[in-house]
Amino acid sequence: MADCIFCMIANKEIPSNVVYEDDKIIVFHDLEPQAPVHVLIIPKKHIASLDEVQPEDAELLAHILGKVKEIAAMTGMDNGYRLVNNCGEDGMQTVKHLHFHLLGKRSMKWPPG
Ligand code: 5GP
Ligand code: ZN
Repeated sequence: MADCIFCMIANKEIPSNVVYEDDKIIVFHDLEPQAPVHVLIIPKKHIASLDEVQPEDAELLAHILGKVKEIAAMTGMDNGYRLVNNCGEDGMQTVKHLHFHLLGKRSMKWPPG
């Protein structure tokens, strides 16, 4: 999708620090990390948010969740991690392309801010 920064990252039109990629997803380091390791998992397909997921995206979502432990292991998250999705205005979503934050290498707090 034009003017979508994460589509541009997926298409390699703007650079990112990629840690994993396959035909369905790309994973790269967040520009402003909130933990010692903070990567973003995004589908290559443009989906604006979790709220826009359609039944035909079920396999894609399962693929993303199924890859989390692999991505955590390859980025050194050997003592647990946190997977976050910010959705919509109240969720404080800033980039309107579905993404999951995977954070680790520090002890997290609850509740989130
Ligand atoms: P959101 O607030 O939408 O859940 O998260 C968007 C995330 O994308 C933020 O953590 C922000 O730091 C990250 N981000 C925004 N623009 C870029 C970019 O151009 N490159 C990278 N690597 N991360 C970005
Ligand atoms: Zn996009």
